Amino acid sequence: PIIPDYLAEALRDVEPHTSGEPAGYIPELAAADPERLGAAFAMIDGEVYGAGDIDTEFTIQSISKPFIYALALSDRGFAPVLAKVGVEPSGEAFNEISLESGTGRPLNPMINAGAITVHSLAGVEDLNPRERVERVLHGLSAFAGRRLEMDEAVCASEMEHAHRNLAIAHMLRNHNVLTEDPRAIVDGYTRQCSVLVTTRDLAMMAATLANRGTNPLSGEQVVPEPVVRQVLSVMFSCGMYDAAGDWATQVGIPAKSGVAGGLIGALPGQIGIATFSPRLDGHGNSVRGVSLFERFSSDMGLHVMEVP
Ligand code: GLN
Repeated sequence: PIIPDYLAEALRDVEPHTSGEPAGYIPELAAADPERLGAAFAMIDGEVYGAGDIDTEFTIQSISKPFIYALALSDRGFAPVLAKVGVEPSGEAFNEISLESGTGRPLNPMINAGAITVHSLAGVEDLNPRERVERVLHGLSAFAGRRLEMDEAVCASEMEHAHRNLAIAHMLRNHNVLTEDPRAIVDGYTRQCSVLVTTRDLAMMAATLANRGTNPLSGEQVVPEPVVRQVLSVMFSCGMYDAAGDWATQVGIPAKSGVAGGLIGALPGQIGIATFSPRLDGHGNSVRGVSLFERFSSDMGLHVMEVP
């Protein structure tokens, strides 16, 4: 088994890296076992290779952002979404309270301001908060190819400390970027972040992006191809927050991280990659995850700017 052996060796090599801390601002996440470690490759034909804890569940957190952006673009069309959320890298932390001056529009859908707005746009028509969460859960499940569920404890734990996201949502409401009750939208966004996934699921979700929006297992076309191009482009320029430039040059794979320790990358026409390790660096990206992706990229020549 060449690929699983390769993955197992890569995990062994990063195991000694114990720098960083699990996210502290969500108490339930701070309690996570920091030694969990897994990596999986999902091919666009549906084959999955993995090593380590690839069937351990954790919350998706910000890795939901590109997928809900995809759903909103697909449900509403491009124009209404782009009118509310831009596509420019912010160069700032994920939870920065920064909005485009004048319009109040969030700079991109990968930072919280943008993702909270995008959450409000899920669904072909205006939905109530409960229906919207259902649409989000259904959509994330379609990307994964299995029915996903929510971790209520993580969600409640984050909501108790969601003052920063509430502040962002109130700013968005002030600028009429959001038109509903900010608390209801942050509640829905937090539920979106609390969906449970495994490293295997994340690899398959990334492979759905790599496979033109069609889930390799179910064969379902989850979102159309132009939406995938848009989403991967934004992941490339904004997916790693204020580390996006380092990532683009050193790893060169459209990617997205989450504060529970997940990290995904999607290479169009080739592969979906996911890693899981809860200790985070100062940008909120998984320390071992970043180092695994650096290795995968250089060992296999995965940088999108390199001729394969
Ligand atoms: N739910 C988290 C938040 O909004 C997600 C952040 C992340 O994964 N980077 O703060």
